[in-house]
Amino acid sequence: MGRWGWRLFEGDQDLDVACSIVEGLGFKTDSWEHSLSSMVHQTDMLAPPEASALYRTSEYSDRLANVIVPYVRENLDTDNLGARLFAASRAKETGIGDLFQDSKYCTIILGALMIRAGARISAEDLQHLRDLVPQINCTSRRTIFEDHGFRDPGKAQFLAALDHYEPGVARSFQEPSCFKCGKIEADIGHKPLQCKKCKVATYCNKDCQREQWRDHRVSCVPFGQVRVLNV
Ligand SMILES: [Zn+2]
Ligand SMILES: [Zn+2]
Repeated sequence: MGRWGWRLFEGDQDLDVACSIVEGLGFKTDSWEHSLSSMVHQTDMLAPPEASALYRTSEYSDRLANVIVPYVRENLDTDNLGARLFAASRAKETGIGDLFQDSKYCTIILGALMIRAGARISAEDLQHLRDLVPQINCTSRRTIFEDHGFRDPGKAQFLAALDHYEPGVARSFQEPSCFKCGKIEADIGHKPLQCKKCKVATYCNKDCQREQWRDHRVSCVPFGQVRVLNV
């Protein structure tokens, strides 16, 4: 289990769910499930530098934006696959015996992937996602043994993505987002500002930074210093 960041898909838990969600819900995928998870693929901090460097090239971002994401959106929108996936995931949700609400968190990750692709989501499924968020475990601190649910900046990121959801519009979870309110450049009209000390946390403005400082201070490691493996 590894977690190298505070936001969505910055840990093995989210990526593992993303990699197996379609099959896990009992759908045949042929070969395109790989494309679903490649919308959010990231390298962890142990990956060789070449692997991380690939994701930063303009060739890769062009391919992601113009090939992979539209391809996944089309798949999800064909024959209402997205809606059927939601129905299957919601049917598997259970409150009993699911101590960490992992089945509900699967639906959250499915929602995040749908929003990532800009696929169609019904008003009812959107509302269901909103209703699920407060039921999911969320912590602002580093956890050593268990990694379930959200960290605060990921939760904010998801809520902002729900608020700004538009069918047909892809929303990246990898670009900088405000650690307090989850907004991205497209929502606020400028790139979020970096925390000067760690260069990891980003904020839409000083107010958001100030409000999140109490939680962020424990993880604000000066840029360049060795970081813990799990945040
Ligand atoms: Zn903000
Ligand atoms: Zn910082």
